[in-house]
Amino acid sequence: MEKTCIDVLPLTMNSSEKQEVVCIFGTGDFGRSLGLKMLQCGYSIVFGSRNPQKNNLLPNGAEVLSYSEAAKKSDIIIIAIHREHYDFLTELTEVLNGKILVDISNNLKINQYPESNAEYLAQLVPGAHVVKAFNTISAWALQSGALDASRQAILKKENPFSTSSAWLSDSYVALGILGFFLFVLLGITSLPSVSNAVNWREFRFVQSKLGYLTLILCTAHTLVYGGKRFLSPSNLRWYLPAAYVLGLIIPCTVLVIKFVLIMPCVDNTLTRIRQGWERNSKH
Ligand code: NAP
Repeated sequence: MEKTCIDVLPLTMNSSEKQEVVCIFGTGDFGRSLGLKMLQCGYSIVFGSRNPQKNNLLPNGAEVLSYSEAAKKSDIIIIAIHREHYDFLTELTEVLNGKILVDISNNLKINQYPESNAEYLAQLVPGAHVVKAFNTISAWALQSGALDASRQAILKKENPFSTSSAWLSDSYVALGILGFFLFVLLGITSLPSVSNAVNWREFRFVQSKLGYLTLILCTAHTLVYGGKRFLSPSNLRWYLPAAYVLGLIIPCTVLVIKFVLIMPCVDNTLTRIRQGWERNSKH
């Protein structure tokens, strides 16, 4: 059968420097993935397999031998085999004596066995030094690298439990709920059946006073959403502010104009104009 091999590209500039030989028992998913990564880091890899002649998809440059022959080539042996198949290792106790065995296995269930897999391996090969490693890394993560699985998250410098963050998030929710409640109330009072049932004073109070209160609450809700990053230059993409900042322009303009209009000097003048006052009136 023709062998299919995988090309090995070095991971770093120093990866071409040859490092020590590492033996991997098992040519399954994990053995192959780990072997490829180690080859890319410059290690020489010898795979141990039940069928050294029939192995496909192994990384280019890796050697494949029987388990006992492979074990002789290295002092570090990574056991990429399921625990259920460890029994055959007892036949290799002589060749594994004094070697470092890296147990990478996981079980399908919690407390599946009375002892851990590493303890079991140490019992099977008492002369070897058993260590546990790599079991929390998946074969998929090894193959995909930083592009996919196990991507590292950037540590947020902001403390999520800081008082100011808690205040901001609580205020954001509270303002949103209150604003939405009043908004619904405004909608209901606009219905003809409801507006016909209230007098002009009540209708004006709801539509004007509560309307402005709703606008203030909803604007504050969006302002608090921006929080500390509001107008921060790091949030400007293509020199454009975020959508929620643009959405604040109209409500803020309305509120500023309203604020100017209720200033006593402006309000008094407007009230007089409404009542018929003219600047150059002779009467
Ligand atoms: P796999 O694809 O099934 O490969 C297991 C390999 O064990 C086989 O390819 C085979 O290699 C060898 N083997 C030796 N004796 C065997 C027997 N009697 N029957 C069947 N296979 C035998 O498994 P894997 O996914 O590589 O996992 C291997 C170990 O890594 C497991 O202990 C697993 O818990 C651990 N692990 C896996 C992952 C993962 O993402 N896959 C992640 C963390 C840990 P030969 O045919 O060459 O002999």
